[in-house]
Amino acid sequence: MSKLVGVLALQGDFEAHAKMVRALGAQAREVRVPGDLEGLDALIIPGGESTVMTLGIEREGLAEPLQTLARSGTPILGTCAGMIMLDREHLGLLDITTRRNAFGRQIRSFEADIEVEGIEGGPMHAVFIRAPWVAEHGPGVEVLGQVKEHPVAIRQGNMLAVSFHPELAADTRLHALLLRMNGN
Ligand code: GLN
Repeated sequence: MSKLVGVLALQGDFEAHAKMVRALGAQAREVRVPGDLEGLDALIIPGGESTVMTLGIEREGLAEPLQTLARSGTPILGTCAGMIMLDREHLGLLDITTRRNAFGRQIRSFEADIEVEGIEGGPMHAVFIRAPWVAEHGPGVEVLGQVKEHPVAIRQGNMLAVSFHPELAADTRLHALLLRMNGN
């Protein structure tokens, strides 16, 4: 049976993620309220604007249900603002501190080819848009990829987070990795 992947759809570029999930033969469900989390095999928190997404999560009472889902072992992928949402200061699910807009104002957006551990077949073409990086992380966090020695791809147990936008680069390998991760 094909897997059911939720994409948090409060704000940001959730549609591109849903498309990628479907391209891989899985089902995608837009998540807007806690009930939408029911029965998911995996969840994606997309890029967007972390301040706006935080307000949406509060408004819909999604923080606790998201934390419960993550702690139950369901695979989760956060990209860009999605990485920020998972950090210590937001949902508190990843043992990381992120620095918002870390690459500076003059380089708000750029692209780079980066090697990501666990992703076979050459570097990923990564699109960074006002991206964060991981400023600090605990021992349970594995760094999978870096730019200028700053972590931009990490894994902690069932959770993956990247600073860039894989959904904009027509590279489905990270989404495929999420689908291969086994929840409980
Ligand atoms: N700069 C945004 C933030 O801080 C993140 C940008 C993105 O998700 N592309 O929330």
